[in-house]
Amino acid sequence: MKVVQVVGYHEDLKMGEAEQPKATGPLDVIVKIGAAGTDLHILEGQWADKSNVKLPYTIGHENAGWQVHEIGNGVTNLKIGDKVILHPLMTCGLCTACRFGDDVHCEASSFPGVDVNGGYAEYLKTTARSAIKLDDSLEPADVAALADAGLTAYHAVAKAARLLRPGNFCVIIGAGGLGHIGIQVAKAISAATLIVLDRNEAALKLAKELGADHVVQSGPNDDFVKKVQEITGGKGAEAVIDFVAEGGSTSTGVQMIRRAGNYYVVGYGENINVPTIDIISTEINFIGNLVGSYNVRLYEVVNDLAELMVLAAQGKVKLHTSKYKLDDFQKAIDDLSAGKVRGRAILVP
Ligand SMILES: [Zn+2]
Repeated sequence: MKVVQVVGYHEDLKMGEAEQPKATGPLDVIVKIGAAGTDLHILEGQWADKSNVKLPYTIGHENAGWQVHEIGNGVTNLKIGDKVILHPLMTCGLCTACRFGDDVHCEASSFPGVDVNGGYAEYLKTTARSAIKLDDSLEPADVAALADAGLTAYHAVAKAARLLRPGNFCVIIGAGGLGHIGIQVAKAISAATLIVLDRNEAALKLAKELGADHVVQSGPNDDFVKKVQEITGGKGAEAVIDFVAEGGSTSTGVQMIRRAGNYYVVGYGENINVPTIDIISTEINFIGNLVGSYNVRLYEVVNDLAELMVLAAQGKVKLHTSKYKLDDFQKAIDDLSAGKVRGRAILVP
């Protein structure tokens, strides 16, 4: 089968050939891929030290299937031909974290597209636990990026929304691939006043269309911080959700948090440099976000991917995608690097 591989970091991807995967374990599921997305940071090697993946390997970690192609003999929740979306992680189901439904912290997980072969291919091997059947009204290409980008955005915004009250302010930094989903989720599940920041005017236009209450263009000087301070009555926002965390967004972002407010880190790339005295004197919190969970986290009921699919089926969250043929993978990556993609770039075989 055809696959798109990382052959070296900071190098162009290559189209190659690989053996079609087979269901060898009882809970294995082979999915014919309907659409797949990925993340430029993976190509830049930012995960290389954490994943220890051997090159070359097939990327693509946001995977939706046209259909289940083959199942192991222990699989009971799916049948051949089902349309599915895949939770990005393959998890054991047996460790303490998995038993809490907190699969993101599984002690024996693998991550297709990051540390094992992913979905920029015709077929992908995953497990029964990772596959969620799609509502008939949803098409794989329309929801593929919801599997990771959307799930991550939902996870962070839902976490913030559990604390946000009407009259509170929520700042979203970045209205791109994740941010544009975060905006819709915030409007669907929270009554907080939503302020969206982006450097790009077209992204802000989209943010406004998606329901942002205020949009503020960020830029090289710090005037936009003052604008956010004005909107929030000089006090800052209860929640700042940073989908960027690059190019100085954290240093300006932390100036927008209210006393005892929360800074949700979703994007990554730069360090947060905050004097510890500022953290203790204002009791601000920094909260990391990785993908999303299925079920129960301690006392909170969260079922991020399933809840997000409900919002998608209700039409409350729509992905803005640019679709590319699998053969045009390099154009997709180039357009993404050049900032030409609004929303998320998706490869369709
Ligand atoms: Zn586990």
